[in-house]
Amino acid sequence: MSHPVHPAFIGGKRVEVDRTVDVINPSSGELLAVTVDCGPYEIDLAVQAAAAAQRAWKKVAVAERARLLRNVSVLILRDWDELAELECLQTGKPLSQARRDTELTARYFDFYASAVETFYGTAFTLGERTQVVTTFEPHGVTAHIIPWNYPLQILGRSLAPALATGNCTVVKPAEEAPLTALKLAELVLEAGLPEGAMNVVPGMGETAGAALTAHPGISHISFTGSVEVGRIIAHAAADLLIPATLELGGKSPNIVFADADLDMAAPTIANAILQMGGQTCSAGSRLLVERSIHDDLVGRLQEIFAGVEIGSALEDPTLGPLISSNQRDRVLNYVEIGSSEGQLVCGGKRLSGGKFGQGYFVEPTILDGISPESRVFQEEIFGPVLVVTPFDGVDEAIEFANATNYALVAGVWTTNINTAQRMVREVISGQVFVNAYGASGGVELPFGGFKESGYGREKGAEGLRGFVQIKTSVVVS
Ligand code: ADP
Repeated sequence: MSHPVHPAFIGGKRVEVDRTVDVINPSSGELLAVTVDCGPYEIDLAVQAAAAAQRAWKKVAVAERARLLRNVSVLILRDWDELAELECLQTGKPLSQARRDTELTARYFDFYASAVETFYGTAFTLGERTQVVTTFEPHGVTAHIIPWNYPLQILGRSLAPALATGNCTVVKPAEEAPLTALKLAELVLEAGLPEGAMNVVPGMGETAGAALTAHPGISHISFTGSVEVGRIIAHAAADLLIPATLELGGKSPNIVFADADLDMAAPTIANAILQMGGQTCSAGSRLLVERSIHDDLVGRLQEIFAGVEIGSALEDPTLGPLISSNQRDRVLNYVEIGSSEGQLVCGGKRLSGGKFGQGYFVEPTILDGISPESRVFQEEIFGPVLVVTPFDGVDEAIEFANATNYALVAGVWTTNINTAQRMVREVISGQVFVNAYGASGGVELPFGGFKESGYGREKGAEGLRGFVQIKTSVVVS
């Protein structure tokens, strides 16, 4: 079966490119679609289209911009089924998770439409005849480099505030999962935003991504992805002398004290590593557990993992496939390393044949007795692999929690308010949850890392700030 090519979307039009990229369905290992690999020529067209659109868009009244963003939200929900199915097929994300991501993407447009309407600068009197006004100015053309694990949601969280504050955008989706970004660009146009407000340049990181982040016409970069590529992006931003927001993953702990409510903790901890197959920047990939409840909690988790339904993403299992054969092999390699650094409690095997076909499936896995020096404790695995480390007392819990180069999210489980408050103060992390982990997408919650998890914040009202610069005007009369 031949697949039509999904071209780039530039200046409100589809733009054909000779070079193509295959998009694979991770549930089957089969070809799902074909898209293009944009190069410097298409990137230049896209940046020019965004710059032309931005000259008018920044002058549109805030209330009107907000109205148009709300239209985008309505259209996303109108096409909810189609978007969710595309997202599910291209990422291997279980269908109900793809549906939720689609809904959250709509919410970003609603949320930033409202937030920008009350996003004011300041005015004050500096001297008797001297008035000062600060205003928020858009950067201009913003570049958005998006990963494959949450293609819609991660795009929504930077695209909506960028557009709300008067920027126009060029989006480079991940080569593995470009289809929903292309569809979203059509909806943004249909919603009434100008041609060129959202341009999509699919392609490989080293070609399309590198050309975009080197283009002198961009004024800001939002990037979510690996630490390795994050460093490359930070260098590119430094060369252009422009700001960047980098969200670079984590090795986030759930820290469980002996007085915790384990009925509440166990299912949340399991979900924190199983959602999207553990291929989530904020996955709860480490379990630090107080020694006296170690056996109880690990036993409960083992039971939950044994009951996990695994299958093709469209069938909406609890656990779908990993994104690619490379990622699967990388995860299996970490399981092997972890089995020698500690003990394999359950899982750890590749699943293939029968209903798994040629898909990229790995069993949910628990590695126990892992010390902080271990590679599986320190390195982001990006798979359904939970590493368990027992601790003794609050001091050791803090020491272990802070013992990696990452610091994105932490979950603390205790019924003791003093322990909770001390952990909140001392755990180094962009977000800390107590008796919870994550918060239904967390549209309202500023999100981003400390240490190698990156810098800058997205989400929440705070997310608007990254997309503006302050202009101070002083008028003497
Ligand atoms: P992941 O580990 O999630 O695949 P990557 O950091 O490899 O994360 O990729 C995240 C995004 O960055 C993707 O859209 C990818 O194409 C893009 N990318 C990869 N390399 C580069 C690069 N050198 N310059 C710009 N973008 C890149």
